[in-house]
Amino acid sequence: TESQIPPKKHYKVVIMGAANVGKTSLVSQFLYDTFTTRYKKTVEEYHRADYEIFGIPLTLDILDTSGSYEFPAMRQLSISNSDAFVLTYSLDDEESFKEVERLREQIVDLKGIDVPMVIVANKYDLVDRETLSLAYQTEKRITEDWCHGFVMASAKENSNVVEVFKVLLRKANVRF
Ligand code: GDP
Repeated sequence: TESQIPPKKHYKVVIMGAANVGKTSLVSQFLYDTFTTRYKKTVEEYHRADYEIFGIPLTLDILDTSGSYEFPAMRQLSISNSDAFVLTYSLDDEESFKEVERLREQIVDLKGIDVPMVIVANKYDLVDRETLSLAYQTEKRITEDWCHGFVMASAKENSNVVEVFKVLLRKANVRF
């Protein structure tokens, strides 16, 4: 009977990172299979999605914090209220990785070192050889020193976008 169905696992995921790195694009590609080059300024937006991963039905609440970097108090609240973290930077914007470092420190301070977290290097489609070798060094640091997930993705080309959420949920110990 219906009452024997266990409740769905429910994760509150937040997407954070500097302006313009592609946070809204990643979410929109993941949830709605769409990409737009039109720039729409998001302050904060919630999306709820039922999602099956590794055969397990989940409910994901995805918080897109795009514009909230301007509001430190909001950022603090987003961190407190979330279970799992996607920190995004853009491969064509070195400065945006510094924001990842700052956010990561804030999150680890509040949530502990074992917090489920994935760093996304977005705009893979724009990358040149030199930037790519830098990205591999960054990957090593993130996965070996920080022990977080790392995914290179392109929201524009829909490459590796689903992988971001798979890696994140694996970090959150979602298993068969
Ligand atoms: P947000 O401010 O972090 O939410 O960034 P947006 O999702 O609004 O994207 C900022 C700009 O970058 C927009 O013009 C997007 O079309 C563009 N963009 C997002 N992802 C990619 C990508 O993977 N590759 C390229 N070339 N452009 C992207």
